[in-house]
Amino acid sequence: MEIEPQDLSHYSCECCGDDSHIARGFVHDEDGSTAAAYFVHWTLGKVDTHGAMFDLIVGRWGEGASAADRSAVSLAFRIGPQGGFMIVDAEGRSVAESELVGHVLSREDVVNTPLAKRVFDIVDAIWLQDSRIAEIVESAA
Ligand SMILES: [Zn+2]
Repeated sequence: MEIEPQDLSHYSCECCGDDSHIARGFVHDEDGSTAAAYFVHWTLGKVDTHGAMFDLIVGRWGEGASAADRSAVSLAFRIGPQGGFMIVDAEGRSVAESELVGHVLSREDVVNTPLAKRVFDIVDAIWLQDSRIAEIVESAA
């Protein structure tokens, strides 16, 4: 898989008002087709306490595909002994409101399904290739 970074935007954290980032991009499969759009949210300097959120839109993209072919999936990233990635409900996340999304998946919709493996492959590609999220990756080291 290969990432294609898009824009990086700022917002203020809902809890503390601190400067936060959203890094957007696409992940493409080896054959060049798009596997997912992604949105990584984190608050600068607070990954250790706030973690980070990885929101994905997975499914079919390109010609002939519509929102009905795509689903929102969200993962929470946390630091610590119980840390790592956890699939969470996408409902309530801004990605769930996207017009590109036809289905909003819950944790139960994804865990222990073939989609879970695909989601973790997509997150791996973002983790390894998107240098904009270095602060998150370094927090986990
Ligand atoms: Zn905060």
